[in-house]
Order: sequence, then structure tokens, then C-alpha cells
Amino acid sequence: NRQFTLASRPHGAPTDENFTLKTVQLPALEQGDVLLRTIYLSLDPYMRGRMSDAKSYAEPVAIGEVMVGATVCQVEQSKNDQFTQGEWVLAYTGWQEYAIVKGDGLMSLGHAPSKPSYALGIMGMPGFTAYMGLLDIGAPQEGETVVVAAATGPVGATVGQIAKLKGCKVVGVAGGSDKCQYAVDKLGFDTCIDHRADDFAEQLNKACDKGIDVYYENVGGKVFDAVLPLLNTAARIPLCGLVSQYNATELPQGPDRLGMLMGQLLTKRIKMQGFIIFDDYGHRYDEFAADMQTWLSEGKIHYREHLVDGFENTLNAFNDMISGKNFGKTVVQVNQP
Ligand code: NDP
Repeated sequence: NRQFTLASRPHGAPTDENFTLKTVQLPALEQGDVLLRTIYLSLDPYMRGRMSDAKSYAEPVAIGEVMVGATVCQVEQSKNDQFTQGEWVLAYTGWQEYAIVKGDGLMSLGHAPSKPSYALGIMGMPGFTAYMGLLDIGAPQEGETVVVAAATGPVGATVGQIAKLKGCKVVGVAGGSDKCQYAVDKLGFDTCIDHRADDFAEQLNKACDKGIDVYYENVGGKVFDAVLPLLNTAARIPLCGLVSQYNATELPQGPDRLGMLMGQLLTKRIKMQGFIIFDDYGHRYDEFAADMQTWLSEGKIHYREHLVDGFENTLNAFNDMISGKNFGKTVVQVNQP
């Protein structure tokens, strides 16, 4: 059984030196135990926070511990009455090929789920995050303009598509022309702007000719700088993530913009609210799952995965995701089903 344990805390982007790839022997199962074989490992931006010991909403991974993460596994062996061999489960076993767990905390996906990996994306944490942040905090109304960055990732793509279903104008922001084209052609966004373009702020201004009513914040940085002056009175900002800052080692360059931000929030009565999906909305998962199942079965929501083969490629895949080299939800294929 191979596993990645945290060897040291990264400064900036994580490197091979920050992890140890270990091979460990698995102990024999005790009564109540389930042996899980990882099929899919989800890679998500929040993991960068767990590598760091800066104060946050969740405890960091301790040095020497297996890196955390959601997984979709198959039961290889079971000494637990509730799980049988071959059954698929959603688990939280982290960056390892196998794990022995007690049954609690596992969610059964049955013996023959049609798309087991969806539990890590569109039907799981990222999809749920998009749904609650947009609908509960963003509260988009028909005809309003919604802007979302990381527009082809699992959160952003879902936000934009739900906003379209609610009758909004949707302006995506993504890295590169392929992603932007996909956001318009496949996801149905009205337009999508490449944040790497020199005239990005100007293009965003043109695209949002009636201002911005909802800015779903995934990235921060220069995207937010360009969004701020375009926000309408009574705009809402679900503050979901700030991926442009996750590897930062110092405060951003340039003049202090805090006074301007506060002034805009005040005079335009803007609501900006952070949220942590399961802490704040765990009790509403069923509502999301019902709507999303319906939309998927009606073909109203598209979902794209970025499947990376090989457990040893996990760290590279994580860094690719943070820096935008992914195209869709990043999932590592750890073992074959
Ligand atoms: P993605 O798979 O979309 O990956 C992150 C993307 O961010 C990259 O692919 C890249 O896309 C974009 N990006 C990276 N750096 C920059 C930058 N400097 N400027 C603009 N864009 C950048 O991630 P997810 O969909 O999984 O997550 C999206 C956000 O949601 C993250 O901030 C994450 O932390 C947050 N989140 C928050 C939760 C909560 O409970 N609050 C729960 C789940 C996610 P591109 O190439 O298009 O630039």
C-alpha cells in the first residue's frame, strides 16, 4: 500500500520534498473493519490549506500523517455487517492506495453506480458548494448579471450553469481560449474572458454593460480588482475561495486597496459573505442532490472531469489544478475498478 505523507510544510507551491511516498504493510482486519481500495482520489484547492499550519477553519494535516482527501473506493474485504465486498463508497481516506476504516463516515454508492466519480464532483462537495453559494448567498434574479471565475472548474462551471437556469446573464472568467470557448459552447455562458489577456479588465467591463449583480468569488487577486468597480448597488458576493492566494508567501504588491473596498461595500450596500460548505449547509445536502440529479438527467448540466492516471502523479496533478493546467474536475485514477 503506497501513501503520501506530509514531510514538511510547503512555502509557496508544494514540492516533492514536502511529501514522502511510503509503502506500508496493511495490518489484518479486526471486527468492524472495512478494507477499501481507492479507485478515485479527489484533488481540491482546500488541500493547500491543510498542508499549512496557518490558523484556519480546519486542523492542518500533521507532519508524518497521510495527506487528507475525499475518495471513491471499492470494498476489498469487510468485517463489517453494513458493507460487502465490491460495494462502492464515498470515503475520506486521503492520498493512499488502500485504507482500513471503521464503517462510520462511509457513504454507500451501491454495487453498480453509473458514474461513481461524480460523488467527488458534480454530485459531491464542489457541486454542492456551487449550488448553495450561488442560490443562498448570491440569490440571483432573472435578468441579472452573474460573474464567476475558474469558470470551467467543478465549482465555477456549475455556478454559471445554474445561473443560466435561473435566467441570468453569465460572464465567465477562465485561463486561456480553449477554456473560454468551452464555457460558451458547452456550458452555455453568454461570454467568457481570459484573465491572462492584457486588456482583461477592459474586456470584463465591456461584457458587463449593465454592471455586476452577483460576483461568485473563487479566485481573488486581479480578477477581483477588475470586478470591484463594476459591482451594482445591492450586489452580492458569495465568498467561496481565493485560489490565486493559496500559494502566496507575502501580501499582494501595490497600493492598499482596503479603503476602496470598504467604500464600495458601504456606498453600494454590497453583501459579501464567506461560507464553508459542510459547516454551513450540511443539513441542506438532500435539497441540492435532488435538484442536481434532475438537472443531470434532463441534460441541463454538463460536467467535465480531468482524470489523471497513476497515483504517483498526485502531487503534480494537485499543482496543475491550482495553477490552472487542469480542464475540469481533477480526479486521480488510483486503481482500476
Ligand atoms: P478548480 O478545479 O477550478 O481549480 C482552481 C482554478 O482556479 C484553476 O484551474 C484556475 O483556472 C483558477 N486559477 C488559479 N489561479 C488563478 C488566478 N491567479 N486567477 C484566476 N484564476 C485562477 O477548483 P474548484 O472548482 O474545485 O474550486 C474553486 C474555488 O472554490 C476554490 O477557490 C476553492 O477553494 C473553493 N471552494 C470553496 C469551498 C467552500 O466551502 N467555501 C468548497 C469547495 C471549493 P483557470 O485556468 O480558469 O484560471
